Amino acid sequence: MTDILDIAREKALENGEGLNKDELVQILNIEDERLPELLDLAHQVRIKHCGVDVSLEGIISLKTGGCPEDCHFCSQSGLFESPVRAVTLDINELVEAAKQSEKMGASEFCIVAAVKGPTQQLLDQVAEAVTAIQEEVDISISASLGILTRDQARQLAKMGVSRYNHNFETAESFFPAW
Ligand code: SF4
Repeated sequence: MTDILDIAREKALENGEGLNKDELVQILNIEDERLPELLDLAHQVRIKHCGVDVSLEGIISLKTGGCPEDCHFCSQSGLFESPVRAVTLDINELVEAAKQSEKMGASEFCIVAAVKGPTQQLLDQVAEAVTAIQEEVDISISASLGILTRDQARQLAKMGVSRYNHNFETAESFFPAW
């Protein structure tokens, strides 16, 4: 059987092709001691097919801490002892942060909030912030506000949010349920 990294080298690096589902599963299950080899290959694929340039993104927390969810690993949950205090920024602070990001060379500015998903009130605040930023700063805007409904995703797109980020995190004991 051909080694999975040899397959990945030929398809992704040499031919610029994607791997199929079975091959990707093999890559995900690769032995820990082969990770440096895998990372080196991933780096070569990036350099060859995407070049050396990177995009910078500025990030600001619109709402930090005080989340009502009980994710035990997260310092932003309000249910456990944590040095993270609940803080909410106002629109001017967001515009200033976006300006700073642009000055530092960022092409994108991401608005994040410690929530399971946004309320309409939070989405309204984001809409106001996006409008204010777009009036003063030449930067793409992205967001990370937890789990969205389709309608909320559409609302964000309509306001001019061009990219959405969502981390998937849970305790290892829940992995088989995903
Ligand atoms: S929902 Fe997100 S922000 Fe809230 S406690 Fe869980 S991981 Fe943290």
